Amino acid sequence: MSDPSCVFCKIVAGQIPCACVFQDDATFAFLDINPLAEGHLLVIPKRHIERLEQMPAESLMAVTRHLPMLGQAVMKVVGATAYSILQNNGRESGQDVPHVHFHIIPRRAADGLGYRWNASKYAPGRAEQVHQRLLAALKR
Ligand code: AMP
Ligand code: ZN
Repeated sequence: MSDPSCVFCKIVAGQIPCACVFQDDATFAFLDINPLAEGHLLVIPKRHIERLEQMPAESLMAVTRHLPMLGQAVMKVVGATAYSILQNNGRESGQDVPHVHFHIIPRRAADGLGYRWNASKYAPGRAEQVHQRLLAALKR
């Protein structure tokens, strides 16, 4: 339910201060302490779950259904017309806090944010291999 060593569990429990903007039974949303832009929010499940794939569907829906409303509020407050949702799973992805969180990051033209999007091409035949492996992995 809660991990006593987790910074976000401590925030939910009120043991670490935060600027909370929204909460309900399942969800907690607050300002990121090191924002990529003013209004940068973190939206988390109240119970401790490390990664997205460990979240039961109901819990995932209970949290993510608030993202559009929170995204709109952030845009309105900071005067942005766009926002990005970022959600990292695992250290290699950039996940520093092992408690599921969705970043809501307000965006502006030429704000300098964004990924290095080093897109590449599949070698001949490789996309078909990957496609088949995925279909096999997803077979029910
Ligand atoms: P990630 O790198 O995706 O795991 O993101 C973790 C985020 O948590 C970072 O953007 C941090 O700035 C933010 N963060 C860490 N500690 C706190 C805190 N005490 N209050 C608010 N945000 C925090
Ligand atoms: Zn936690």
